[in-house]
Amino acid sequence: MKNRSPFHALSPSFFSGLLDDPLLFIRVPPPMRNILVDCGQMDHLAKRTLKSIGSLFISHAHMDHFIGIDKFIRSNLVSPKTIDIFGPPDISKKLAAKLSGYDWNLVEDFYCSLRVHEIDDDFKQIYILRGADRFKRRFVETVPDNSPHLYENQFVVAEGVLCDHKIPTLIFKFSEKPMFLIDEERIRQQGLIKGSWIHHLKQYISKGQLPVPVLTIERRNSSNPLLCTENEATDLYRKIRKEQAVSSIAYLTDIGFTDHNLERVQQLFQGVTLLVCECTYLSSHLEKARRSHHLSTSDLNQLIRKLRPKYLLPMHLSKTYLGNTHLLYEELEVPPDCQLIKLPDHVAPEPIIPADTPHLMF
Ligand SMILES: [Zn+2]
Repeated sequence: MKNRSPFHALSPSFFSGLLDDPLLFIRVPPPMRNILVDCGQMDHLAKRTLKSIGSLFISHAHMDHFIGIDKFIRSNLVSPKTIDIFGPPDISKKLAAKLSGYDWNLVEDFYCSLRVHEIDDDFKQIYILRGADRFKRRFVETVPDNSPHLYENQFVVAEGVLCDHKIPTLIFKFSEKPMFLIDEERIRQQGLIKGSWIHHLKQYISKGQLPVPVLTIERRNSSNPLLCTENEATDLYRKIRKEQAVSSIAYLTDIGFTDHNLERVQQLFQGVTLLVCECTYLSSHLEKARRSHHLSTSDLNQLIRKLRPKYLLPMHLSKTYLGNTHLLYEELEVPPDCQLIKLPDHVAPEPIIPADTPHLMF
C-alpha cells in the first residue's frame, strides 16, 4: 500500500494470504516499536521483523489466531525488554498454560517479560509473566476503565472493545495521531508573527517537553511579546493548528452478525480509513456463519454500507473455498468510493516435502 498510502505515520502489512491464519503487522516510525495484531501463521516472518514488535494485540485464543505466539516469544526471548500483550479476559492464563509446557531450567535474568492486559467491558486486569521467573503469571492490578482506549504513543492510539464470538473476542482500531501542522492564516488572525517559537511548540506538542521556560512570541502591532507557559501551550496550538483528517486501521475478526456486535462495531469503526475484516463464508453458507459466529459475504456487504471505509481488505476466508476464492470478490458489493484490496490465496512459499531435501535421501 506504500504508493497510495492514506497514512502519514503507520504502514500496515498483511502477512497472511486470504486462506491463511491472520496476521496484521503495523509499522510505527522509530523510535517506537511496531505492532502485531493476532498471531496466526507466522513461521515465514523474519526474526528481525518479530524482534521489532513492541506490542501485540490478540483478538481471541482460537488456535488460528493464537498458535504463532510461541514463535513470537522464541524470537524475542533473549532480550531484556517488556512486551505488552492486549487480549480478552483469561488470555494471560492461556498464555501461561502454553508456556508452562516448556522446561525453563536454563532461564537467564535478561530474558524478556510479557505484560498482559486483559480487556473487559468495565475494567482491565494486568498480569506480568517474567522470563527470569520462568513465565509464571503474577497479578499486578485491576484498573477500572470502561473506555475503549488501550495504548498510545506519539504516533498512534489503539482502541478495542469486546464482541461476541460464542467467546469474548476483541476488535481493534489503530488511529494515527494528527501531525503537527500550523495554519498560517490562523497565526495572522491571532496577531502573531512566525518565529523559532513554532519549533519549540512542536517539541512540546509531539514530545510533551517545552525546551524553553516560556515561549516568547512576537506580535504584530505590539512591542510586547506574548509569553506562553507550558500550561498555555496546548491552548495556543488549538487556536493555530491546521485541521486534518485522522487515518485509522480497523481489525475485525470472528464475530457473530448480531445486533449487539453490530452496535459495538459501528460505534468504534464508523468512517475508518482501512477496514481489515474477516469474511469466512460465502452467502450460500450463511447457516455455517450463523452457527460458528463468523461473517459471510452478505454480512460484510451490509457492514461496509454502514461503515463506509475508504479501503477494504477482506481476509480469513474458509480453507474450504480453495480453488474458488474468486467467488468471494464476485459476491462483495463494494461502494464506488471504497477501494477493494485483494489478497493472494497464500503469501508464504509452499511448505516443503521430503523430495525438497535431496542432501539426505537414501
Ligand atoms: Zn475464532
